[in-house]
Amino acid sequence: MTESATSNRETLGFQTEVKQLLQLMIHSLYSNREIFLRELVSNASDACDKLRFEGLHNDALFENDSELSIRIGFDKEARTLTVSDNGIGMNRDEVIANLGTIAKSGTREFFSRLSGDQQKDANLIGQFGVGFYSAFIVADKVTVTTRRAGENAGQGVRWESDGGGEFAIEMVDKAVRGTEITLHLREGQDDLLAGYKLREIVKKYSNHIVQPILMQKEEWKDGKYETLDEDETVNQASALWAKPKNEITDEQYTEFYKHVGHDYDDPLAWSHARVEGKTEYTQLLYIPQHAPFDLWDRNARHGIKLYVRRVFIMDDAEQLMPLYLRFVRGVVDSADLPLNVSREILQESKDIEAIRKGCTGKVLGLLSDMAANDKEKYATFWQEFGKVLKEGVGEDFANKDKIAGLLRFATTHSDTPDETVSFADYIARMKDGQEKIYYVTAETFNAAKNSPHLEVFRKKGIEVLLFSERVDEWMLSYLTEFDGKQLVSVAKGGLDLGKLEDEADKKAQEKEADEFKPLTEKIKTSLGDKVKEVRVTHRLTDSPACLVADEHDPSGNLARMLKAAGQKAPNSQPILEINPQHPMLLRLKSEEKRFDDWAAVLFDQALLAEGGQLDDPAAFVKRMNQLMLQMGGD
Ligand code: ADP
Repeated sequence: MTESATSNRETLGFQTEVKQLLQLMIHSLYSNREIFLRELVSNASDACDKLRFEGLHNDALFENDSELSIRIGFDKEARTLTVSDNGIGMNRDEVIANLGTIAKSGTREFFSRLSGDQQKDANLIGQFGVGFYSAFIVADKVTVTTRRAGENAGQGVRWESDGGGEFAIEMVDKAVRGTEITLHLREGQDDLLAGYKLREIVKKYSNHIVQPILMQKEEWKDGKYETLDEDETVNQASALWAKPKNEITDEQYTEFYKHVGHDYDDPLAWSHARVEGKTEYTQLLYIPQHAPFDLWDRNARHGIKLYVRRVFIMDDAEQLMPLYLRFVRGVVDSADLPLNVSREILQESKDIEAIRKGCTGKVLGLLSDMAANDKEKYATFWQEFGKVLKEGVGEDFANKDKIAGLLRFATTHSDTPDETVSFADYIARMKDGQEKIYYVTAETFNAAKNSPHLEVFRKKGIEVLLFSERVDEWMLSYLTEFDGKQLVSVAKGGLDLGKLEDEADKKAQEKEADEFKPLTEKIKTSLGDKVKEVRVTHRLTDSPACLVADEHDPSGNLARMLKAAGQKAPNSQPILEINPQHPMLLRLKSEEKRFDDWAAVLFDQALLAEGGQLDDPAAFVKRMNQLMLQMGGD
């Protein structure tokens, strides 16, 4: 960069993340370099939308020119390409904040999570939302000249950078409001300096931007293009959602998604409908293919763009979607709301309530259809957004059953956590006489799958659902039945297999319970307050003992989760259940000398087997060693 003679020129450093993003972007998106134009046009379109909206309250912002448009031009000699708009523009502070940092929350975490290989993965960078910086894919210097509408008559700001570590900023003359972005193309990018090429890219990626995109008209003459002194509109410039469905192609829906969703990937599915009746609106809602990196950041922007009679009102209108559907992107265009609607008004509007209800229903319907008709697609959805959808069970009482029908679970009847079943699948293959839906919760899939509580269910071939996500315990507190069938944890309360157990078995078990009474009492005395009760169980076939929670106590897994989260878990003692068939218990019946050690080891083992942590691991190891020595000496 040459030193400018003007005294107000200042050089500033990019935020660290910007530098990283720039490098990643240039390398990983190069093979799809054309998207830079979509990103710049998309920003220009947003800037026009913002001006239109602010102008509703303040006509002066239009500076007597309310025809909003975007212009693309090029200069073959100078090897530059220019995208300009007469939208809202930026003042000096905004330029520094918007083009010198990444304002989005969660950026730092996002970058720190990427491995070297991932950094080369275009899809991952795409998830981040490529935006303005994508200009550097094709340019080795970018100059932005901008003036905010209604401010500093004639005085604008110029920002300039070569995409290294710094940018320069200075005040310059700028008569018209809005933003002009000039790209000084890299070597080898000269094919972009052609009208037909740019028109082709615009048609492909930005055809349905609402504002007209203007370019200088060209005429084919004497074997080459000649530019005329006249502009033409090169895109369709109409609101896509306002068109009838049968006039819109899949490509057009997809292209529009990339604009509203700030996404690099195609959408997974969409739903487009005009709703008539008491509240009138049009909705075009998309489900992305990938979860955004900030899905778990509750402050991240989410939601839907709100329009009123095709005038842009606001981004991220979170009132239009419940939180558990925060991954949905798209547009709602209301026919009834006033143009000067504010976020405060939205919170109380009956129309918004109706729209939210309608949109929620549409999305759940779309998902049900997908689950029924395209299992593979639904599996992708579930993989990306299943955890978020689970929040809906507790958040959306009215749609609880519908959401429960969309849930998918790992099960004892498959080998991997990815082979999942629905409640309907489970119920369809329940055993004769089975009345309940059985499940187990644990911290990991493996801990759930290998839980000792499952032993008798395995033996009898009864399917058990395996829950191992953090949200599951919380969700299950809201989900006590499905389709009239009670959900029962196999790690809580006494084992009740109902009709699945035969009379002879029950008799034998009662007898054993009596026979082992002296032993269970002795263990209880030895363990004292550590357990609420010690009893004989028939849920075990291989393990000597397990812990269960009393019917109305939190499960061991939940108690551990609460503790790990620093929350106070209600002080509940587990019940120790012993397996009367196990040799260890038979031996314990006649043990005298080291009974307390055996009892302690029995308890600690049971705790370890269900994924718990020992209070005093060293003591456990010491006892084990002593018992092993004792056995060797016997
Ligand atoms: P995003 O658009 O995803 O927020 P960008 O990096 O593309 O991220 O742009 C950052 C910000 O810069 C935008 O949010 C906007 O405020 C501002 N900006 C970019 N282009 C323009 C423009 N043509 N006119 C006005 N503001 C713009």
